[in-house]
Amino acid sequence: MLPERSREQSEQLTRPSPAKEQSYYAGLDIGGTKVAALIADGAGRPLGEAVARTGTRGPEELVASIVTAVYQAAAMAAVAPADLVAAGVGVPGQVNPQTGEVRLAVNLNLQAFPLGEVLAARLGTAVYLENDVRLATIGAYHWLIETEPVTHMAYLSIGTGLATGLILDGRLYRGPNGMAGEIGHLVVQPGGPPCKCGLHGCLETVTSGPAIIRLATAVMTTTEPLTVTAVYQAAEAGHPAARAVVEQVSGYLARAIQLLILSYDVEKVVLGGGVAQMGDRFCQPILRELATMRQRSPLADLMLPDERIAYLPAGYNAGVWGGVMLAREGETGRKG
Ligand SMILES: [Zn+2]
Repeated sequence: MLPERSREQSEQLTRPSPAKEQSYYAGLDIGGTKVAALIADGAGRPLGEAVARTGTRGPEELVASIVTAVYQAAAMAAVAPADLVAAGVGVPGQVNPQTGEVRLAVNLNLQAFPLGEVLAARLGTAVYLENDVRLATIGAYHWLIETEPVTHMAYLSIGTGLATGLILDGRLYRGPNGMAGEIGHLVVQPGGPPCKCGLHGCLETVTSGPAIIRLATAVMTTTEPLTVTAVYQAAEAGHPAARAVVEQVSGYLARAIQLLILSYDVEKVVLGGGVAQMGDRFCQPILRELATMRQRSPLADLMLPDERIAYLPAGYNAGVWGGVMLAREGETGRKG
């Protein structure tokens, strides 16, 4: 796709093909504040990880922070950067995976920038770009199929924003514009809170981490700034205002899950993202909402069993793992 292979890598291809685990891949997740990098071998074993602060004062600084994260992770993995075969990179914005161009990434201060090409030249590897949530979807699917042979999955990411990604027939479904799954901007509360997209009452404005804190701060008296975890803990402890907030948020999320299952008949909806890292504490109120829907509707009873919902284990970074998978698939696809 993007780069010319470096001479070293071209030569590598002409040698007797190396054992699979001797190929090294980098997975990268670029966030608004940090770049996370993972180096893994061809067998999918993690070898080194690193995090660098995201440079947001222009493309040069951004590229430098990505290169720093890769080099640090490679050093930890005891892998020479020149031995990396490919990198898969998640970008919070709209990307063109074919050309490696970032069309628009507001949080990174990027517009129409050939990030794939520039990174490939700097790292000396093939680079595959994908939207960050779509990339995490690949990572979540990789985690899921370790234990369950499903072919249809939706990944629902709840963090500073809300977005989904879809695996249909075992493949990432992007849509012609790479925007499939952007349900965070579905209006669920007309006239509700303003959204950065320009509309009011988008799903994201009533369910994301900042939304939960905003809703709770309006109804809970507290001397310290609230955290999402504190709101959920208070709800568990029986605090009425916190419970009302959690029930409202969980109600919207249960309907988002219903939307995904009814639209695509996915076998699994996997929850992830910063807020979903609370695990059971976060999921139980959603499951209660789904149980209420099942009691009222035979259709819901058929379509929305608890078994269809899962959440990523805390500490599993779906973004960087998705990057490793994308890089590996891209390269094996090219060779095959
Ligand atoms: Zn919106």
